[in-house]
Amino acid sequence: MANGRTAACLAVGSELLGEVRLDSNSLAITRALGRHGFQVVEKRVVGDDEQTVAAAIAELLGRVDVLILTGGLGPTADDITRDAIARALGRRIDVDPQVEGWVRAAYEARGRAMPEVSRRMAQVVHGARILPNRKGVAPGLLISTRDRLLVALPGVPWEMAEMLEREVEPELALRGGGARRFSRTLLLGGVYESAVEEQVRGLYDRFGRENVTILASCGVVRLVLSTGGEPASAQRRLTEMETAFREQLGADVAGVDVSSLEQAVLAELESAGMTLAVAESCTGGLLSARLTDVPGASAVFRGGVVSYSNQAKEDLVGVPHDVLIEHGAVSEPTARAMAAGACSAFTSDWGVGITGIAGPSGGTADKPVGLVHWAVAGPAGVVADHRVFGGDRASVRLWSAHLALDLVRRQLALGRRHG
Ligand code: ATP
Repeated sequence: MANGRTAACLAVGSELLGEVRLDSNSLAITRALGRHGFQVVEKRVVGDDEQTVAAAIAELLGRVDVLILTGGLGPTADDITRDAIARALGRRIDVDPQVEGWVRAAYEARGRAMPEVSRRMAQVVHGARILPNRKGVAPGLLISTRDRLLVALPGVPWEMAEMLEREVEPELALRGGGARRFSRTLLLGGVYESAVEEQVRGLYDRFGRENVTILASCGVVRLVLSTGGEPASAQRRLTEMETAFREQLGADVAGVDVSSLEQAVLAELESAGMTLAVAESCTGGLLSARLTDVPGASAVFRGGVVSYSNQAKEDLVGVPHDVLIEHGAVSEPTARAMAAGACSAFTSDWGVGITGIAGPSGGTADKPVGLVHWAVAGPAGVVADHRVFGGDRASVRLWSAHLALDLVRRQLALGRRHG
């Protein structure tokens, strides 16, 4: 049972009960609640049914301090969140002419006239504060009831995130009674979650097991360190934790509070004034796509080729025909030639080559499904590595992209130490 202030998330939307969409909004909401000392004790997903949503609101509001809903605030008949809140709280609902003006203005700012159905978005549950939507149209609602806080945010993730930060977090800060939590995330590359756990568990007694969270995703591990207290002392505590954890983890730490391994590696290369290019086979452009997800990647990333067939490996990145015949496409010599070829093709300082068998078929006795070779060409020459990954096609590809990129990072660090 939770002792402190509690919260729940309620995601509204029949599509979230299907097999395509997942409720990801509650992750960002949980993070925001956690920052202000609220513990999420329940997350629920319900379809677009007014009565079911109203029953869920009434029930959850009976036992948590803060309830945050997302979705169902749009203009169509299946957007029932406002009606469900009114029903659950026994409150009136009216079209507010001022809110209607805002909704109309939001459409006009997008070069459209407001459709008649969209008047629905100007409905306000009696006593609610309207939360402006700076990224979209549907306004949110915030209602204080007894000692409870009820918030309804749009379902569209970026609209939700903006409203959460700008409109809801100040309210959470007030209600959290200063019990703010602060965190710092060490991003580790090329490691397994279990190995990280073993390296750091000696520190749990000192810093508290509950203040350390390990999250793993195909060769990238996030170690979230957290603490409460006043901002200045919390930051000092986090620095103390970071130092102690870094001592254990050494060169596995790729960055602090970076959003991805790609971001960390691009930043390192940029500060070294160096460029990168890639030649991909089994990852099919995944690494290039992930690199170009990072804003400002163009300062470092010269380009990538998907050299999927043997012919493409020869023609585009100059893998020698004899290497392909003698060793095969999935081999260390091919990966090495691809890495060096990427450097030449794009005149970059660093080149990555990845070739493997992502599966589910195509394996042989000596080259099983999941076997991937990668290589990194850099100022000090070419290094290579390989592994047989378990998991499905998507995870083999992601592991490969992560580990190949992590090898660039490690080689860069080695070069720095030696040079
Ligand atoms: P809109 O005015 O855009 O209709 P809304 O509040 O009615 O806003 P929904 O129609 O429920 O929001 O959802 C809009 C989009 O946001 C859909 O693509 C939906 O899949 C996505 N979405 C809704 N809820 C969530 C959620 N909890 N997590 C992630 N995505 C979500």
